[in-house]
Amino acid sequence: MQNIVQKDGFSFAFNPLACSSCQGRCCTGESGYIYVNKSEIEKIAELLHMQVNEFTKQYLFKKGYKYSIKEIIFNDSHECIFYNRDSNGCKIYDARPLQCKTFPFWDYYKTRVDELSLECPGVITGKRDV
Ligand code: SF4
Ligand code: SF4
Repeated sequence: MQNIVQKDGFSFAFNPLACSSCQGRCCTGESGYIYVNKSEIEKIAELLHMQVNEFTKQYLFKKGYKYSIKEIIFNDSHECIFYNRDSNGCKIYDARPLQCKTFPFWDYYKTRVDELSLECPGVITGKRDV
């Protein structure tokens, strides 16, 4: 089957086609942290034609020694401020942080596949024949 993504070390696979109908569950829902490093901050600021300082003040908050992207609350859902509900997409897609690019293949989920399956309908578990 085409389009199915697999990664070494992970017991599950992922079907990106699921994203078109899932309404951004990985960008919405429970509150979380969307970490961005210095180069990612610069890249997103550039995409938005903003100065880094201005971008940081408007869109980020400090969590320990790191920066995370702010959320907004919509109908009890904590949504990344860059989630576009109208288009079901990411407003900074071309500069989205690595954390977003690598989802759902996070080390955290290697031992929490059940938890991941509840969040991401694109996850394929069990015997794979792809
Ligand atoms: S939760 Fe999964 S299926 Fe939904 S948008 Fe995110 S990666 Fe795609
Ligand atoms: S930056 Fe984009 S992909 Fe990442 S959580 Fe926000 S809306 Fe989703």
